[in-house]
Amino acid sequence: MAQTDYTIFEILQMDACAGCSLCVDVCPAVSAAEDGKLSAVYRINELRRIMRSRTGFLQKFFGKKALGQELLKPFSDTVFACTLCGGCQQVCPSGIHIKDLWLSLRQDMVHSKAYPKKVDMIGENLAGSHNVFDEDNQERAEWVEDLPDAPDHGFIKDQADVVYFTGCVSSYFPMVQKIPLALVEIFESARVDFTLLGEEEWCCGFPLLGAGLRDQTKDLIGHNLEAVRAKGARKIIFSCPSCYQMWSENYPEEFEIYHITQFLNQLMASGQIMFNELPLTVTYHDPCDLGRGSGEYNAPRQIIRSIPGVELVEMAHNRENCLCCGGGGNLEMIDAGLSSDIAKAKIDEALQTGAQTIVTACQQCVRTMTTYARRYKVAIEVMDITQLVQKALTGKNRPGSG
Ligand code: SF4
Ligand code: SF4
Repeated sequence: MAQTDYTIFEILQMDACAGCSLCVDVCPAVSAAEDGKLSAVYRINELRRIMRSRTGFLQKFFGKKALGQELLKPFSDTVFACTLCGGCQQVCPSGIHIKDLWLSLRQDMVHSKAYPKKVDMIGENLAGSHNVFDEDNQERAEWVEDLPDAPDHGFIKDQADVVYFTGCVSSYFPMVQKIPLALVEIFESARVDFTLLGEEEWCCGFPLLGAGLRDQTKDLIGHNLEAVRAKGARKIIFSCPSCYQMWSENYPEEFEIYHITQFLNQLMASGQIMFNELPLTVTYHDPCDLGRGSGEYNAPRQIIRSIPGVELVEMAHNRENCLCCGGGGNLEMIDAGLSSDIAKAKIDEALQTGAQTIVTACQQCVRTMTTYARRYKVAIEVMDITQLVQKALTGKNRPGSG
């Protein structure tokens, strides 16, 4: 409950808000819903009011009542109508760590029993089946069966130098299983000694943070650490920026961890992968958790620019200012309509570049933008950077190509 959900730093930072409203203009949820109550400035102001009311100070000296559920619930609705994109934090002149504050605020709403029902579902799914979709976790690596020449071990080896941590979305969603399939082909071509964790891979825990269930991440973290240790691996590669960010910020520093764009740059530098000409005009969408969240803007652009024939045209908002695709913060589960409206703004901006293809580096971004483009028959292709690399790859050790 309440104040204990926040660090002292966060409580102090709440008072640093200068009310400049710069966060309003950049918020994709505010723009899509045309509702200022979804902005950081509104939420921080309300939170300060709630905190004051909870201390009893106002009750004691001014006779005001503490906020009840009837007031907390509408506020909570605004708290979860947010993609956790970090756009507000990026522009905040007061330097407030707004994303961390949002995670604590969601936890507070859960402890205060004012939260969307879907939160319970996320918690139950992860406790029961160890993946966010409540699928059979033994089927986590079933996508390997789509490879025509998969080895008998199905890429689940006893020992390997590199673990490829696939993530829930790429493991289970057919639309984006092309990402791990492409990556396996690239690793095979580059002769990378890698393994999957298979059913021993559990969700990284990121959806629990976004759901306000931070307390429940411990088991997942402990299990995943043991699973990687058991492989004797030194390195972990992530194609999901949220898994990557979760491991960077919430797991102990025991392994070398890389987002796939960083690892691919290493493979390019050592000559392990090379490219054929690929005539294609693309624009690049910075996933929030890779760009603003992890500060990685160059690695993907370097890959794109290294492929002969590929032309990169930037969107009006790019790098630190990139518009969110609408897929983060569990928003798709909680308010699919708002998520889709945010995706619309993203796709509209991509269309203005004249590019044939939007390249990104995140399975959830691919899913959100592809779903929108297919539903509304928008003529633009969306692909992950692993798929772009797969298309351009030279060398013929390429199971499943074409
Ligand atoms: S994190 Fe993104 S969606 Fe959430 S309030 Fe900030 S700008 Fe808006
Ligand atoms: S940008 Fe920062 S200081 Fe300005 S209103 Fe938003 S939260 Fe407050």
